[in-house]
Amino acid sequence: MKKQPFVTKEKLEEIVAKFPTPFHLYDEKGIRENVKALKEAFSWNPGFKEYFAVKACPNPALIQILQEYGCGCDCSSMTELMLSHALDCKEGDIMFSSNATPAEEYVYAEKVGAIINLDDITHIDYLEKAIGHIPETICCRYNPGGLFKISNSIMDNPGDAKYGMTTEQLFEAFKILKAKGAKRFGIHAFLASNTVTNEYYPMLAKVLFEVAVKLEKETGADIKFINLSGGIGIPYKPDQEPNDIRVIGAGVKKVYDEVLGAAGMDDVAIFTELGRFMTGPYGCLVTEAIHEKHTHKEYIGCDACAVNLMRPAMYGAYHHITVMGKEDEPCDHKYDITGSLCENNDKFAIDRMLPKIDMGDLLVIHDTGAHGYAMGYNYNGKLKSAEILLKEDGSFEMIRRAETPEDYFATLDCFPIYKKMFE
Ligand SMILES: *Cc1c(COP(=O)(O)O)cnc(C)c1O
Repeated sequence: MKKQPFVTKEKLEEIVAKFPTPFHLYDEKGIRENVKALKEAFSWNPGFKEYFAVKACPNPALIQILQEYGCGCDCSSMTELMLSHALDCKEGDIMFSSNATPAEEYVYAEKVGAIINLDDITHIDYLEKAIGHIPETICCRYNPGGLFKISNSIMDNPGDAKYGMTTEQLFEAFKILKAKGAKRFGIHAFLASNTVTNEYYPMLAKVLFEVAVKLEKETGADIKFINLSGGIGIPYKPDQEPNDIRVIGAGVKKVYDEVLGAAGMDDVAIFTELGRFMTGPYGCLVTEAIHEKHTHKEYIGCDACAVNLMRPAMYGAYHHITVMGKEDEPCDHKYDITGSLCENNDKFAIDRMLPKIDMGDLLVIHDTGAHGYAMGYNYNGKLKSAEILLKEDGSFEMIRRAETPEDYFATLDCFPIYKKMFE
């Protein structure tokens, strides 16, 4: 499938005239259509709720859009909890799926009405010490170990993941929690990341539903929800077939009826904690080609770098690139598209076939709406970019300003030379 930007060249030029590159641009229309499709796909389950994984794109303007459709927030840190609380999340609107959690974060999570998802059996005592009791609603994170396979291909390796409890620990944890006063239980698992197949959620659901039936039988715990977490992926590459959320929803319904329905547990709510799927395709990084270098290879230097988008440098991830205005020109030039960090892995693409790039061309780096801006950092003293929202009516708005040197140096304000930096 041909990957096309959600913004036209003319519109982008209008935006660039007002906000200098680089910046992340988000597509309100795409976000709304996608969240509507998700809700419809799971409308067969009355308790269904998506808790948006805040870490994927922690921008309040975007989270507010998702909240209009009943989404809550999935958090794993103090600042994510603070943001979600400020966004008016009520009791039960936050899922706290953290790991290696500091005590003060449990205290705050409880204070703001989050559902606590315990990553380990030892966290029961830790939580009880931290907040003085066991909450009546509690969730446990499950890790069955081994390899997670679909047909014959390995999707991921849960046995090598730091998250969750073993099967024995999960049963034991439910018994302990029940004895300590927990009344409403949930189970959670995240067994494979960025899956581009409609089979992942139904397979995961089957594992969790079967465990849920056994857990209720053996422990008498009242299981109220099953959290399928994140992991539904997006087609970063043009040859990938996108997931069909309707097929996924129907696939989960089928195993729900077969396993939970058959066991008389048809009042269990399905929760999700999708991040990438909710915003990934609806964001892009806009950057200008500002240098060309003809040495042992052909290089194009951009005004964005890995601090704006770390995935290619971090995991060699593919992000599609469109040279705006040259969509129909032949891809007959082989380039490395680089940023300005003093790190040779600061490349958005390596040996990528693209149309001839001229200085001043705008490049759109696709699918940066999740784990894009959010993974940003400040190496080389580089500053994080702005975020702009392209609205449904074609207008656009800055939803986060770019960092300034003042932001970067702010934590040195205790230091004598602080003021001199701005002279
Ligand atoms: C990262 C994460 C998610 C979101 O994952 P995506 O792949 O972005 O959907 C959800 N839940 C937890 C606990 C996570 O760590």
